[in-house]
Amino acid sequence: MKAALLHKVASIETKPLKIEEVETPTPGEGQILVKITASGVCRSNLNMVEGDWISAGVPPKYPIIPGHEIAGTVAEVGPGVESVKKNEKVGMQPLWISCGTCDLCLTGGEYYCSKREILGETVDGGYAEYIIAYDGHIYPLPSNMDLVTAAPLFCPGVTAYGAAKKAGIQPGDKVAVFGVGGVGHMAIQFAKLYGADVYAVTRSDQHLALASELGATPIDGKKDPISELTKIGKMDSSIVFAPSSKVAMQAVRSTKARGTIVMGSPGGIEEFPFDEEKRIVGSLVGGRQATREVVALAVAGKIKPITEKHRLDEANAVLKAVKDGELKARAVLVP
Ligand SMILES: [Zn+2]
Ligand SMILES: [Zn+2]
Repeated sequence: MKAALLHKVASIETKPLKIEEVETPTPGEGQILVKITASGVCRSNLNMVEGDWISAGVPPKYPIIPGHEIAGTVAEVGPGVESVKKNEKVGMQPLWISCGTCDLCLTGGEYYCSKREILGETVDGGYAEYIIAYDGHIYPLPSNMDLVTAAPLFCPGVTAYGAAKKAGIQPGDKVAVFGVGGVGHMAIQFAKLYGADVYAVTRSDQHLALASELGATPIDGKKDPISELTKIGKMDSSIVFAPSSKVAMQAVRSTKARGTIVMGSPGGIEEFPFDEEKRIVGSLVGGRQATREVVALAVAGKIKPITEKHRLDEANAVLKAVKDGELKARAVLVP
């Protein structure tokens, strides 16, 4: 099969991903071979490729195939597989496998399991024609579902869903979403689904337009978002998907007393007004149950990722566009 291989971490400008022929994997007991239709391009793929996580031991091997938000069809099932059938449409999220028995695995936090394997980071991922999935870690999709649109459900969709849930949104709440990219454009949709008036803060003109398209009120981050938001009235909650301490503080200051700030990206809180009893919550991705809920909402037509299609051999160029903040929402590679 064809795959995009990383032989050594390097800046994306040096085009470190090489398209090569590798052996197509064979599914063992409890495993499934998935023929990949679409693989989302995530900012965290860029972090791995450029070596941002070397000190954390990622990647643990070379070569490695990046990619962790996948949609495709079942090509072959191994012995003992019960959850899916050949030719069925399926998705895969970043968590490839976990122990299944620890407290984290049993309470929806399996992506923190000490025995977890993460696609495209600790094991080969989705920038390829085929991939192995584990029974119980694969998500059936209806036959009429568009797989290019479906792929980002499995990372940005699950990530945004977890953040919107942690914000505790009530109908009529004012919710600010800081950062309108692959994940932010999904967070806007979930916040609206929960009945919020959504204000989307971004510095990009393209993303201001996208926010309007999704029914949010665009707030220009290049101007003074705190006073813009405060004029509207302080936010009941804020969701941050912009890796910036400045933006994190904008979120803290724009949120009302006793409100919630959900941090979905890194950012320092330099000055926290403890006397306003605000809550700051971290949010990463989501477990298997959360993934099923996101798929169900997409199948019901309540949420829909906005995607653009690229060829697998454009992986370096697409990651460069991610780095430069040039993408409208989410790019997917179609092998
Ligand atoms: Zn992702
Ligand atoms: Zn576990």
